[in-house]
Amino acid sequence: MSDLPAGALAAVLTAEPLDRLLDYRVPEGGVAMGDFVVVPLGPRRVAGVVWGPGQGGFDPSKIRTIAAVLDVPPMRAELREFLTRAADYTLTPLSAMLRLATRVPDLGAPPGSRVLLQRGGGTPDRLTPARARVLDVLDEHGGAGFPPGELAALAGVSSSVLKGLESQGVLVRIAAPRDMPYPRLDPRHGGHALSDGQAQVAAELRARVDALAYSTTLLKGVTGSGKTEVYLEAVAQALARGRQALVLLPEIALTGAFLDRVEARFGARPAEWHSGVTGAERRRLWHAVAKGEAQLVVGARSALFLPFRDLGLIVVDEEHDSSYKQEEGALYHARDMAVLRASLSGAAVVLASATPSLETWVNARAGKYGRLDLAERFGTALLPEMRAIDMRADGPAQGAWLSPPLVEEIRTRIAAGEQSLLFLNRRGYAPLTLCRACGHQLGCHQCDARLVEHRFLKRLVCHQCGESEPIPTACPKCAVEGRLAALGPGVERVAEEAAALFPDARIAVLSSDQTESARSLKARIEQIASGGADIVVGTQIVAKGHNFPLLTLVGVVDADLGLMGGDLRGAERTFQLIRQVAGRAGRAEKPGLALVQTYQPQHAVIGAILQGDEDAFWQAEAAAREDAGAPPFGRMAGIILTGPDEARVFEVGRRLAQSAGALRKLGAEVYGPVAAPIARIRGRFRARMLVKGPKGVLLQPALSAWRAGVEVPANVRVVIDIDPQSF
Ligand code: ADP
Ligand code: ZN
Repeated sequence: MSDLPAGALAAVLTAEPLDRLLDYRVPEGGVAMGDFVVVPLGPRRVAGVVWGPGQGGFDPSKIRTIAAVLDVPPMRAELREFLTRAADYTLTPLSAMLRLATRVPDLGAPPGSRVLLQRGGGTPDRLTPARARVLDVLDEHGGAGFPPGELAALAGVSSSVLKGLESQGVLVRIAAPRDMPYPRLDPRHGGHALSDGQAQVAAELRARVDALAYSTTLLKGVTGSGKTEVYLEAVAQALARGRQALVLLPEIALTGAFLDRVEARFGARPAEWHSGVTGAERRRLWHAVAKGEAQLVVGARSALFLPFRDLGLIVVDEEHDSSYKQEEGALYHARDMAVLRASLSGAAVVLASATPSLETWVNARAGKYGRLDLAERFGTALLPEMRAIDMRADGPAQGAWLSPPLVEEIRTRIAAGEQSLLFLNRRGYAPLTLCRACGHQLGCHQCDARLVEHRFLKRLVCHQCGESEPIPTACPKCAVEGRLAALGPGVERVAEEAAALFPDARIAVLSSDQTESARSLKARIEQIASGGADIVVGTQIVAKGHNFPLLTLVGVVDADLGLMGGDLRGAERTFQLIRQVAGRAGRAEKPGLALVQTYQPQHAVIGAILQGDEDAFWQAEAAAREDAGAPPFGRMAGIILTGPDEARVFEVGRRLAQSAGALRKLGAEVYGPVAAPIARIRGRFRARMLVKGPKGVLLQPALSAWRAGVEVPANVRVVIDIDPQSF
């Protein structure tokens, strides 16, 4: 069916950073809305999507003709609408949204025309570093095949290296698995007998999926209450109705265990979508999703942009997790986009969490979202007992971080063969290195940030830009030798202290350092889960859904850490993080204990954490947010101005502040520019502004006109962040 006949004009959206549609002449055979096409653009050919009838107004003799219509399922109206609305909401160019929706190599290449390289049975005669990198890439992707070009690029080797390996049988050629079907999932396979509470919630969720209409439901329940068990029943219902389902997870390292669980429930593995999936596999999945053959996709936030044929359910697991906010490029929040996408495709959304975001909690209170609670842990597992340790009275000696009561509990656990987890949300050995001779603090030369000592790496690392340098012996400022001191604790230092206290204990550090691959992290987590450590010292990575059955003690090393600083979300984050971490203790039959080290046991947030009176906490937080006119009670946009020239950055900010009349007329307030909390990153100065508007007014059109109305020099960047995560 063609909407536009040959010779007519079509407006084509490409992923090029142009910020407008381009007119092309429709070729023989016509085109339909949503068709994927190839169009000439300057000397190149690029892929695009027919977005509407041409606008005209150009010199007709200059208009070029669509070069080809690709043989792939057209983009459905619903996805086009989603991209348009998401672009409008986040003030992101539509072309950038299309880029998210077409992250697949060789979209339209004919089937069977491609070969992949895969691991063969041979061993290389010599293992050069280049060859080792090729094998590493293949190993990391569990034996998947790669297009030769992609494999060479990922391993950073030339094609001759691949040819050499091929001639020795280390690599073999196979046909691309594009048409290899996904195994069918059986909604009646597996499944546990549910407890009464679980069965009730599952029935409600099934009914919402059965309504074949949009709805959003908060599924709230402590860690171990069976949220996953129950939302898999909703997935089963979507599959039984012949609709597709999408489960979003906040962390790639978690997908492996989750896929195993899905396989146990449905008898086959679902499709998987995240940055660690190979290009060939992404391409296969993209086509299978478009054709409706992939019934269930498990993935990262970008899976929201896949071309589902009939999406019936989106689950956002750990919906409060801050990693759902994309902080680069298109600044979108996956939770909000899931709700938008579902509303356009008539799907149910399930937002699952033990500690929901305040936004979701308020939406549920207002009746905008449904709310279902799982009150208890499944089976005999009990919630951990929580106690504060008043560090003013019971703290450790100077230079130590573990209080005597906590140390005693760890000792008891080791004797009983149980695990302890020490949580500190600080990577590295020490957050501050200072010269005791002159007082100089070691900082990054391109960021306004301290250098953090990492003792395992034997380097000082900047957590902003990732640059690192060897640890000097003399102060770089006053050149005095031997007076540099590491101040304050990071996880490595806590691990060192634990090792000194318990020399025979096996100690593991879990920290999200960029140097570790997802695969190796996953392997270490599994090793810990199976009893391979007595004491685990970890950053916030341990808060995310890992199941450690032997863990019965959690020690929060510094509960006050997130409560300082002016961020309105500080209390919410601290509450979520400590409750989540504490929830790791005592999941199996053994009861858990969480000890919270704090210098301010009377603090309201610490009190709420200990009492576990969650609704009271959220009530108070909601009131504070409402007073501040902050989301979800008001609308906010953050403006981030960056550039190498500080004066220019601020000048643009001041001009924006002066020309905000239209925004103010809408009832919005404009604050700033002020230096950002980290005022320089990678040599670029950073200033922030904040626009706060009343809830009932959509600010985006005015924001967009505002930015467009101020002249911005080429070396200043202005980014608008709708619903910023920190304010
Ligand atoms: P949550 O997602 O809330 O943390 P899970 O669904 O992961 O909870 O359940 C916690 C543990 O209890 C899992 O190991 C799960 O398999 C088990 N479990 C939960 N409900 C049941 C049930 N009805 N029958 C058997 N095991 C269950
Ligand atoms: Zn830096």
